[in-house]
Amino acid sequence: MKVALVTGGTRGIGLSIVELLAQEANLRVITCGTKPQPGVEFPEQVEYVQCDISHSNSVTAMIDQIIAVHSKIDILVNNAGISHVKPNGRFLIEDLEEQTWHQVLNTNLSGAFYTCKQVIPHMKKNRYGRIINISSASARFGGILASVDYISSKAGLIGLTKGLAYELRGCGITVNSVAPGRIDTDMIADAKLSDEWAEQHVPLGRLGRGEDIAGAVLFLISKHADYVHGATLDCNGGWVIT
Ligand code: NDP
Repeated sequence: MKVALVTGGTRGIGLSIVELLAQEANLRVITCGTKPQPGVEFPEQVEYVQCDISHSNSVTAMIDQIIAVHSKIDILVNNAGISHVKPNGRFLIEDLEEQTWHQVLNTNLSGAFYTCKQVIPHMKKNRYGRIINISSASARFGGILASVDYISSKAGLIGLTKGLAYELRGCGITVNSVAPGRIDTDMIADAKLSDEWAEQHVPLGRLGRGEDIAGAVLFLISKHADYVHGATLDCNGGWVIT
C-alpha cells in the first residue's frame, strides 16, 4: 500500500484531500496539524501526527516517526498554510509587520522546503515519488485579497516546484503545483465573499470547494499524470485565466 503525507489535513482543503485519497486511492494517509488532537474524525486508514511545519525540528520528528512505522513516503502533498485576511481588501505593505512576513513565509514556503528536503531521499531510494505543492491563484496574478507575504510564499512554491522538477530528473519522482482560486474554507471566512461576488467574478459562478482541489491532487498522483512534471494546475473556476 502506498503511503501519502498530506500536511494540514484537519480542515478545509487539506481535509478534503485526505478524505478523497483515503477513499479513492487505497492509500495509507498521514496528516498533521499544530494541535495535539486533530479535532475531526478521519477514515480508518488515516493517521494524525502533531507537527508545526514552520519548524524544521518538528518536521524531522514527524518524518522520522512515519519512516519508523511505514518505511517510506510515496506521496507528499504540501498543503498546510496560513494567510491573514480582512474584509473588503488586503493588508498593505505599510501595515505588514516583519514578524507576520516571517510567520507566513516560514509556514507556507519553508514548511514545504523542510518536508521536501527530508522526504525526497526516501523517494529517491525507492525510485518513486509524487510531490504536490498547494500554491494559489494569487501567485499567478498578484491577488485581490492576499497581501505580499502570502503572494510571495505561494509564488515561491511554484519556484520550488520548477526547481525540484529540473533537479529530480531520472529519479522516478514528479513534482507539480495546484493553484486554487477562492475556496470556501476557514482561511477566507474573514473576507466574507458572497455568492453574488462569485457569480460576478468567477465564470463557473461559485466559490471553489475543498473537493475541487482534492480532485486535482488525485489526478496528479494518478498514473494518468505520469508525464506531468513541473506544472502548475490552475483550479479556480476560470476566475484567473493564465
Ligand atoms: P484552512 O485555514 O482551512 O486550513 C489550514 C490547515 O493548515 C489546517 O489543517 C491547519 O491545521 C494547517 N496548518 C496551519 N499552519 C500549520 C503549521 N504551522 N503546521 C502544520 N499545519 C498547519 O486553509 P485552507 O484549507 O483554505 O488552505 C489550505 C491550503 O490551500 C493553504 O496552503 C492555502 O494557502 C491554500 N489556498 C487556499 C485558498 C482558499 O481560498 N481557501 C486559495 C488558494 C490557496 P491546524 O489548524 O490543526 O493547526
